[in-house]
Amino acid sequence: MKCYLDENFSKGALQRFGNIELNPSAGILNYGQGLFEGLKAYKRHDGNILLFRPEENALRMKMGAERICMPSPSVEQFVEAVKATVLANERWIPPPGKGSLYIRPLLMGSGSVLGVAPAPEYTFLIYVSPVGNYFKEGMAPINLVIETEMHRATPGGTGGVKTIGNYAAVLKAQSAAKAKGYSDVLYLDSVNKRYLEEVSSCNVFIVKGNLITTPATKGTILPGITRKSIIDVARSQGFQVEERHVSVDELLDADEVFCTGTAVVVSPVGSITHLGRRVTYGSDGVGRVSKQLYSALTSLQMGLATDNMGWTVELK
Ligand code: PMP
Repeated sequence: MKCYLDENFSKGALQRFGNIELNPSAGILNYGQGLFEGLKAYKRHDGNILLFRPEENALRMKMGAERICMPSPSVEQFVEAVKATVLANERWIPPPGKGSLYIRPLLMGSGSVLGVAPAPEYTFLIYVSPVGNYFKEGMAPINLVIETEMHRATPGGTGGVKTIGNYAAVLKAQSAAKAKGYSDVLYLDSVNKRYLEEVSSCNVFIVKGNLITTPATKGTILPGITRKSIIDVARSQGFQVEERHVSVDELLDADEVFCTGTAVVVSPVGSITHLGRRVTYGSDGVGRVSKQLYSALTSLQMGLATDNMGWTVELK
């Protein structure tokens, strides 16, 4: 397996996947100066390989880099590096219908820095891993618990960008929820403590009749690329979509709830537990709208449907 490594955005190159060296006083190790991205490559039936909106990941990395005082690769550099890495690992891409190649670009302050300050040197690297389809046999609902004590983000913080520290912040609530049998945690806003934010690694949507609502991204929620795409797909299918505050009461009164993210694409929510009260959705937790949107988006991503949105990038 090959990975891509570029120091200070000079002459990136592919190399054998393996350990990398870091100075003990590297910015990423001491001050969390690191960002990552996640996207997937799918093999299509004709042998071509498809990426899904990679320039969106590049732009999100750029936004994150500005927030934590790092330079970032240009959109072109980012996309070219992703393409080169995927092509170099073509044999690891699962056959059509069997999964995808998960791509993890990582940007870090690799230079040495003792006092709190931006690191003087940077490393951009990309590694990959084959992953199976998230749902092996039909869609399975997840069960979420609303976290009322801990928050993953606060206004003015880094919740809206993909810094590594955001993920350390969710580990405690997530581990506690999993130990109790829940799939994951749904976070609330840290100011009013009654508006939905997101799950540890996906965005959340609620459905009521023909209306689909999702929390607006105002700096504390990661602007998911799947989220943005689902909003457009849903509108193109005649749904009304609103991005705004969504209260816990609205959530508990919804017809259907689903989450979106690169890993899950669309994941139906079977139940939500809030302050000990468990609310279930539908008879089997897999709502009609979740199924419809999952099928529409995965068909595009896998190259099974014509891409009228212009979102897929062919590598050959
Ligand atoms: N929120 C968080 C906190 C995430 O880590 C992710 C995964 N990147 C998402 C939402 C979904 O984003 P995307 O659709 O771009 O994968």
